[in-house]
Amino acid sequence: MSDSHDTPRMASFEEIDQVLHHHQSFVLLSHVRPDGDAIGSQLALGYSLIAAGKNVRLINEDGLPENLAFMAGAELIETPPSEPLDVEVAIALDTATKQRLGDRALNAASKAKIWLNIDHHVSNPGYGDLNLIDSTSPATGQILYQLITALGLPLPAETRDAIYVAVSTDTGSFQYPSTTATTYDLAADLIRRGLDVGTINSNIYDNHPYRRLQLMCVLLNSLERTPDGKVASWEMRDQTRIELSLTPDDSEGLIDYIRAIRGVQVAVFFEELSDEKIRVSMRSKDRRYNVCEIASEFGGGGHALAAGIRMRGPLEDAKALVLAAIQRRIDSAGI
Ligand code: 5GP
Ligand code: MN
Repeated sequence: MSDSHDTPRMASFEEIDQVLHHHQSFVLLSHVRPDGDAIGSQLALGYSLIAAGKNVRLINEDGLPENLAFMAGAELIETPPSEPLDVEVAIALDTATKQRLGDRALNAASKAKIWLNIDHHVSNPGYGDLNLIDSTSPATGQILYQLITALGLPLPAETRDAIYVAVSTDTGSFQYPSTTATTYDLAADLIRRGLDVGTINSNIYDNHPYRRLQLMCVLLNSLERTPDGKVASWEMRDQTRIELSLTPDDSEGLIDYIRAIRGVQVAVFFEELSDEKIRVSMRSKDRRYNVCEIASEFGGGGHALAAGIRMRGPLEDAKALVLAAIQRRIDSAGI
């Protein structure tokens, strides 16, 4: 774990309750290139607050990705308006640093008097006025489930389904080691509340666009592995994005295929972005190879077993730097 910042003080559920209770207007935000936990967290808390009679706007820098458009109530997710919103409270969800909310989203929320920061990233420095960060939680959606049920807030169908999507996607379908009995209890409770497991899983996992598999062909052709077999990586050029008309969500989760190779400890996905930056996505199977710490060396962050970086290109340079940093970790771990 990185010690580059002091551990922020955690807000109690009661303190958060006070803020929710005594204010009427809220903007809920999540990180750029949102995933299931980001959008799921916005919809989960958003629909709960709406059912409690609050005025709520759900803003994301990049809007709603196509792969999550099936989610009940997803039409409330908006891209940022050009003028700041008249809201009292901003709530950042699932977002490790304030900057990762995006410039336009930050501008939209700039009139908020109070910031809540609810997240599960170990690298989160606690940029809110009130911070609820639980790095043991597998998903921000699980923290929200605990908050909503503890405070007795409404849990409408949109919230129920959104919590499931958030938790299922951030645990790799209830597989990663951060998945606990609490997580399965949560899922069981959502099913008792009427969640349709078959339909929602089919919408999440069996509904990919054809171009995603075409992308997979390109990635497989770039697959590389270190001689000891511990590190595997693949890469995507910006040209591929153009040729296949890809959207950012098309590559979501593909890294799990190389993470799953026997012997691989660290999996890396290098993606050339249109702004000449490189997005690096890393996964580890073993906490002794902490990819959040490796990402921190380059200004990135995330979790011990899943982390990311945005860094300067060209791709070859970014790749050489990151693979060397991983190799240093593996050598120093001595296992
Ligand atoms: P992914 O590889 O799925 O994009 O991200 C894995 C994890 O790392 C997520 O929890 C995500 O929030 C975090 N992450 C990804 N990219 C960055 C980045 O550029 N900066 C920081 N601080 N975290 C990142
Ligand atoms: Mn998350």
